[in-house]
Amino acid sequence: MDDSLSRRDWLRVLGISGVAAGLSSLRAGDAAAQDSGFQSSVVDSHEVQANRASPSFVDGKIIQPSRELPLLHKTDVLVVGGGPAGICAAVAARRAGADVTVVERYGHFGGLWTGGLVLLVLGHIVKGNKQVCQGLGEEMMRRLDKMDGAIVDRRPGVNPTVDAEAVKYLMVEMVEEAKVKVFLHCWGVDAIVNDNTVHGAVFESKSGRQAILAKTVIDATGDGDVFAAAGAEYERRLHNVGLVSRVGNMDRIDQAKARGVPKPRYLGRHTPIPGVNWANLRGPEVDGLDIETLTKMEMDHRKFIWRNMQKVRQTPGYEKVYLMETAPQLGVRITRVLNGLGRVMFKDILAETKYPDVIGVGGASNAQHGEWQIPYGALVPKKIDNVLAAGRCIDAEMRMADLVRLIPNCFVTGHAAGVAAAVAAQDGCRPRDVEVPKVQKILKQQEAYLG
Ligand SMILES: Cc1cc2nc3c(=O)[nH]c(=O)nc-3n(C[C@H](O)[C@H](O)[C@H](O)COP(=O)(O)OP(=O)(O)OC[C@H]3O[C@@H](n4cnc5c(N)ncnc54)[C@H](O)[C@@H]3O)c2cc1C
Repeated sequence: MDDSLSRRDWLRVLGISGVAAGLSSLRAGDAAAQDSGFQSSVVDSHEVQANRASPSFVDGKIIQPSRELPLLHKTDVLVVGGGPAGICAAVAARRAGADVTVVERYGHFGGLWTGGLVLLVLGHIVKGNKQVCQGLGEEMMRRLDKMDGAIVDRRPGVNPTVDAEAVKYLMVEMVEEAKVKVFLHCWGVDAIVNDNTVHGAVFESKSGRQAILAKTVIDATGDGDVFAAAGAEYERRLHNVGLVSRVGNMDRIDQAKARGVPKPRYLGRHTPIPGVNWANLRGPEVDGLDIETLTKMEMDHRKFIWRNMQKVRQTPGYEKVYLMETAPQLGVRITRVLNGLGRVMFKDILAETKYPDVIGVGGASNAQHGEWQIPYGALVPKKIDNVLAAGRCIDAEMRMADLVRLIPNCFVTGHAAGVAAAVAAQDGCRPRDVEVPKVQKILKQQEAYLG
C-alpha cells in the first residue's frame, strides 16, 4: 500500500485547500521560501513495546544491560573527528592507499576552524618567515586561493584568514575526491577493545548505537574521546573556553561620528567577507569536559556577546554594526592530552632537537621562534594499541599546548597520523611498530616538510 499523501491530500488534512490555488500560483523561488508543497511517506511502523535494551532502574541504580551492536561499517583506517587534523588524516591515509572512513558528530567538517569560527590560521611559519606547514595544509591554502572570497592575507610572513563556508565546501570536495567513506551526525561514544588493542569504535546517531570495525583508529576528536574510552593514559587539563562570533557592517562605521570616541571592545579582525569581522572571546579557564560547565559557558558567553553588541550599537558612529552570529561550536581549547611514547617539550624548541622519528615540523603563532620537530611517539599511546592521536590532543607538555593546538600544527599531525595508520593497516602491524622511515618517505611524497 502506498502510504504517501498527495499534495492535495496533504492540504485537505491541514484544512487549507483554499490556499492551494494561491500556493500553486507562487513562483518557484517564493514557494521555496514558504517551505511548502512537500510529500512525505511512512517507511516503517513501530508498535509501542518494552525495549529490552533500555537501561532499567534497579535498587536505586540505573543498569544498562549488555547487548549486541549492529555493525555499521568495516574499514582499514577509521578517523573519528572531522576537524583540521581529522580531514588531513583521512585524505592522507586514503592517498597512501588505505580504505578510510571518517566519522563526525556534527553535520559539517572543519571542527573549531569552521564550526568554532576560528578563522585565523596561525602557526604555519617560523622565524625568518619560513613556511613549515606544507603537505595537505598548504594544499588546502592553495585551493582556497583559487576560490572566490575564501581566504585573505596569503602573503609571505603573514597569517591568512579564511571563510568558514569555503573551508566546509573544500573539505567535502577533498574527501569526495579521495573517496573517503563519511558518516556525519555520528558521535563516537566508546572504543571496541580486546587485550589493550582497539578494533574500532561505537557511535550514537539517529540510527541508534552502531559499531565500526577498523584495523587502525585515529582519534582526531580534539578531546581524546576514543583513546580515553580505550583506556589510554592521558592528562586532563583546564584551559580557556570561549566563544567566537562574527560581526557585520564593520564597513558602515561612521568615521566622522566615531572620531574621538573610545573604540568599543570585541569587534575582532577582518575576514574574507568585506565588512565582516570575527571576534575571539577568550573566556575563563575551566574544564571543557564537564557538561555543566560547557552549558554555563555557552549561555554566559552568548548573553555577554549580545549585550556587548547592544553597547557597541549605542556608541556614536557604530549604530549600524550588528551581531551576525555566534559560533555554533563552543571554543574549547584543550581538554585531554595523550600520554604518549614521545612528548613535545618546550626545551626542544630552544635546543632545536632533531628526532629520528620526526613526522612533521611545527610553526609559531607569529614567527617568534624557530622550527620544532614533532616526534611520531607523541601520537602513539604508551599502552593501548591500534589507536593514534592527531591534532590538539597529542602528547605535549603544558607549555607547548598553545603551539600544538594551532590549526597548521593540527594539519601536520593529522597528515602524519593518516599516513602512519595507512602503513600500519597495510603492513598488518601495530602503529607502534610501523617502519617510521616508510612513513617519512610517504609523507615527503605527499609534500610534507620534515625539516
Ligand atoms: C576560541 C579559540 C580561538 C582559537 N584561535 C586560533 C587562531 O587564531 N589560530 C589558530 O591557528 N588556532 C586557533 N585556535 C585553535 C584551533 O582552532 C584548534 O586547536 C584546532 O581547530 C584543533 O583542531 P583539531 O582537528 O585537533 O580539533 P577540532 O578542531 O576540535 O576538531 C575535532 C572534530 O572532532 C569532532 N568530534 C569531537 N568529538 C567527537 C566524537 N566523540 N565523535 C565524533 N566526532 C567528534 C568535532 O565535532 C570536530 O569536528 C583557537 C581555538 C579556540 C577554541
